[in-house]
Amino acid sequence: MQIDFTGKVVVVTGAATGIGREIARRFKAEGATVIPLDVNHEGLRALAADFPSEGWNDAGVVCDVRDTEAVQEVVDGIIAAHGRIDVLINNAGVNAVGLVEDLDRDVWDRCFDINVRGVFNTCKAVAPAMKKQNYGRIINAASFAAIMPSIGASAYAASKAAVVQFSRTLAGELGPWGITVNSYAPGMIPTAMNGLADLPEGEQSKRLDMLTVRRWGETDDIADLLCFLASDFAGYITGTLTDVSGG
Ligand code: NAD
Repeated sequence: MQIDFTGKVVVVTGAATGIGREIARRFKAEGATVIPLDVNHEGLRALAADFPSEGWNDAGVVCDVRDTEAVQEVVDGIIAAHGRIDVLINNAGVNAVGLVEDLDRDVWDRCFDINVRGVFNTCKAVAPAMKKQNYGRIINAASFAAIMPSIGASAYAASKAAVVQFSRTLAGELGPWGITVNSYAPGMIPTAMNGLADLPEGEQSKRLDMLTVRRWGETDDIADLLCFLASDFAGYITGTLTDVSGG
């Protein structure tokens, strides 16, 4: 199986850091024109500066996925510049920690605004272009928190469960135009979002013991899956949630 994204235009949200940065790099390495999008301007600049040999020649697009008009503008700009969007990866997301009784309403709202409305905004903006092309791949970041009880992360877990069901529904709406929509559920990947790497060793091994493979996930593990789901080898896979949590 040879995966090659030459000629494909790929938009990755939340690409400045963590998993998104690796996703953007990987698609670039596989030949795609990648448009990284994030609120973190510095992070986008670092992405371009850190890998000059990979052909990053600009700093991506600064955009808040919560901002409906800004997202539409960015998508229109990409279509004007590149003529199409083949793959949309909704990786941008935030955590929200706190027991329900202690959880501030603003924290709940921010989590849903970014994790759910952000996904809605980008999907709505790219759908007409993908329909015109009769081709598209939309892949949305959920989480194992959408499947397993996550004590102290009710807003996050509920927002990610919403992403799963939103994706399934959208898959049905866009299926006739050759567009697939899937979501994926990472488990525990040390990034800035979860501070796993900073936990005391005892706590780390307790958590690792919960995983079938007994190792943290790596950003590569996610990029591997997404390359497959975005490829022509996955044209008959849609409306699914892939568990990529190490069991
Ligand atoms: P991260 O915090 O390293 O990266 C998230 C990125 O999203 C950041 O670059 C941030 O600037 C960007 N972002 C946040 N709000 C945004 C907004 N409003 N508009 C545009 N960009 C915005 O986190 P990560 O661990 O790399 O997580 C990436 C995705 O994977 C998230 O959706 C997360 O929920 C999901 N996930 C991560 C894990 C894990 O273990 N790391 C597990 C399950 C799911």
